[in-house]
Amino acid sequence: MTDESVESASPAALVQVKLRPRKAQPFFGRHPWVRDSGIDKVLGKVQDGDAVELISDKDRFIAYGVINRNSHLRVRLYSWDQDAPLNDAFWRSRLERAIQMRRQLGMLREDSGCRIVYSEADGLSGLVVEYFAGHLVMQVTSLGMFKRLDQIVAILGDLLQPKSISLRGEAGILKLEGLEIEPRLVSGELPESPIEIVENDLRYEVDLSEGQKTGFYLDQRDNRRVAASYMPAGSKVLDVFCYSGGFALNAAKHANIAHVHGVDGSGPAISAAQRNAERNGLDNASFEKADCFDYLKARVDAGDQFDAIILDPPKFTKSRRTIDEALKAYFHINRHATKLLRPGGILVTCSCSGNVSREEFLMMMMGVSQKTGRDLRMLEQRGAAPDHPVSATCLESEYLKCFIASVG
Ligand code: SAH
Repeated sequence: MTDESVESASPAALVQVKLRPRKAQPFFGRHPWVRDSGIDKVLGKVQDGDAVELISDKDRFIAYGVINRNSHLRVRLYSWDQDAPLNDAFWRSRLERAIQMRRQLGMLREDSGCRIVYSEADGLSGLVVEYFAGHLVMQVTSLGMFKRLDQIVAILGDLLQPKSISLRGEAGILKLEGLEIEPRLVSGELPESPIEIVENDLRYEVDLSEGQKTGFYLDQRDNRRVAASYMPAGSKVLDVFCYSGGFALNAAKHANIAHVHGVDGSGPAISAAQRNAERNGLDNASFEKADCFDYLKARVDAGDQFDAIILDPPKFTKSRRTIDEALKAYFHINRHATKLLRPGGILVTCSCSGNVSREEFLMMMMGVSQKTGRDLRMLEQRGAAPDHPVSATCLESEYLKCFIASVG
């Protein structure tokens, strides 16, 4: 799969991509996405997925990147050092650096889960790699990374000796890249049954071949634990969009609550959540398959009350164009949840839509407070766990917001 001619080319032989006048500043500033509108011309013959050299209108070297004419991200940039072209040594050093940072954070533990590569935040646009108790799951979302798959797999194998490496795509993004990726095993062997990981002293099953996304939502690790610390003793908790029980089980184990009920639209997720509760010997958690919009409305209509509610919905928008609908959906579920909370109750409300900013989310919450007549006081404004860092030169890598509020 690896295109040898691309990888072994000396930097001097690379095709240059020239920017239009006054378009170079963001890229000298290390932003990795060059859109078509900034490009003047491609000075030579290229194939999609080839390494190229980005230059300014004055012919100054900016960075090495990979071109894909099917993508609106026409060139993704990886190296701003003219002496470090995109060869095997470069990819290896990037992967090593990403893994080393997680090790330094103490997050790469044999029995646990950890995101070891997070795309732009690790200088590897289009590649996500997660570690689950010795197994790796890769999510490839750019043609450039897909073309270098064999090379990346070999380096990861070398650096971590994983028991297996599986490949996943992300349907929406793949379409934008003109790519098709069938989920498959690319190296090693998969166990027959789901594997187990430990997070926050809780044991979870992770299905490496069937689970959603890469199998487990690692980004909420710390938020689950912190959210539990706010749950009042004896409280009745509702975990909405619970997947395999992440927030619910932290509340059930680490807080002195009476009961938590988790709701999700996915049957397999609910079964996994039930097995996870059993696996941890927790009998104060129950789970139910239901559409969460309908469920919240039905509880409001029935006049139910809870002491704490978690809302962790899926991404409501993949583009800025549909932001209004997304904000309406956030408003809808947050309004219902607010109504369901007794005075003094705790609302943990999340958004993983990168296109919705923190400010926009807070404005939406302002609307919820005004509409319900309930005072919302933000106790904590959190993001993703540190194995999902935010790049200072690609702020698009910040996507997860988690607010913990007291509802008056
Ligand atoms: N809180 C979870 C992650 C939630 S991910 C954790 O800590 O692991 C979002 C979840 O929303 C997914 O499990 C998906 O199945 C569920 N979902 C998406 N749309 C839904 C809907 N309309 N009703 C119920 N669940 C839905």
